[in-house]
Amino acid sequence: MNILIIGTGLSGCSLGRMLKDKGHHVEFIEKERRIGGLCVTRTNKDGLPYEPYGAHTFHSSKARIKDFMTQFDAFNGYIHRKGVVINGRLYPFPITKEAIEDFPEKEKILGELKSRPKNIDRTNFERACRSIFGKTLYGFFIENYTRKMWGIPPRTLTADWALKRLELREGRRDDRLFQNRWQGLPKRGYSFLLGKMIAGMPVTLKATNFNPGRYDVVVSSAPIDRLLDLKFGKLEYRSMTFSYAKENAWENMSYGTINLPQHRVYVRKCNFNVLHRRRAKYQFVQYQRSVDFDGQNMPMYPVKTQKNDGVFNRYLREICRSRNICPVGRLGLFKYLDMDKAVEMAFAMVPIVEKYPLMSAEERYKRIKRLVDSF
Ligand SMILES: Cc1cc2nc3c(=O)[nH]c(=O)nc-3n(C[C@H](O)[C@H](O)[C@H](O)COP(=O)(O)OP(=O)(O)OC[C@H]3O[C@@H](n4cnc5c(N)ncnc54)[C@H](O)[C@@H]3O)c2cc1C
Repeated sequence: MNILIIGTGLSGCSLGRMLKDKGHHVEFIEKERRIGGLCVTRTNKDGLPYEPYGAHTFHSSKARIKDFMTQFDAFNGYIHRKGVVINGRLYPFPITKEAIEDFPEKEKILGELKSRPKNIDRTNFERACRSIFGKTLYGFFIENYTRKMWGIPPRTLTADWALKRLELREGRRDDRLFQNRWQGLPKRGYSFLLGKMIAGMPVTLKATNFNPGRYDVVVSSAPIDRLLDLKFGKLEYRSMTFSYAKENAWENMSYGTINLPQHRVYVRKCNFNVLHRRRAKYQFVQYQRSVDFDGQNMPMYPVKTQKNDGVFNRYLREICRSRNICPVGRLGLFKYLDMDKAVEMAFAMVPIVEKYPLMSAEERYKRIKRLVDSF
């Protein structure tokens, strides 16, 4: 088949590689002047590597995903740990039983944990979190962070994120953020890795126009609402701005990132020396601030509200009715995907793309919707 892929982020590149390996002709268009989407690594003036779109730590327990990624570069073995600063003290995240012992409010927290409901309340994000953490821990770790991160009250978010990303590690000493077997960052960086992944496939940079008639399938990792000219209205995304500092100290050299729920401006910071396992004369720190997506900056996090999910569904139905455009990825499917999930979803999309021209609109919709809901 003759396939065009819109976007050279990890979703587009990995699906492109998989389809190419199955003998299809694959080419790309990319709106930026470089490939990679959010998976980009640069070096600063002193030669220290960094990710301009925030710490990107790869993690997976699936050999198939790890094997796919490590074909293109070796990984550095960094195990991701995250801290949180609360009232000037550093705590691990996820919150562990030992960390609770260190809180001056320990008795109150333990009392609240004892009286949690048996089942998690799935009504919305706030209620889900309170039923996992109790009121005090929720207030310290989650509430302000979530308001800054998403720019809306936590009760307006769906419970999805809380159920998938947040946990209380009771009775366990493990302070790794992810418990996956394989973790780390590519030794030569994401830009190198993705470049190698799509080697030999034509890429047109700074391009958004395409003629669908020239291809059997057009796979799109562009924002689905924008691809369809916002005909059902805008989907909401959050974006981020990043600033850099050379600092003399870092709270704990095993934490690559630190959340700052009580900071007036920033949501978190990361130290690239830790993430890239580099020694340098200074700590190379990135501060991250969450802002609205305004149509000009990068759409980063799909805002998961019931309203947005409803609008996305209309777009999905509509695109499945198009002659040959198949949506993928974080922006095409309006679903936050970690990198391992972006690759896993690409594997699952291969048979869908190969049958796309033969499928009815209803069959396309059902298969893609089932896939999105299962991630
Ligand atoms: C701040 C942040 C931190 C993250 N950290 C981690 C982490 O630590 N670990 C982890 O596993 N995952 C992390 N992720 C998730 C990771 O970034 C995603 O898994 C990955 O970006 C998915 O890639 P994608 O291809 O779906 O989207 P993208 O990377 O956004 O790629 C989409 C591509 O399409 C292009 N494009 C858009 N519109 C058009 C158009 N009309 N025409 C042509 N091209 C177009 C864009 O320029 C872009 O290159 C993080 C995400 C964010 C936002």
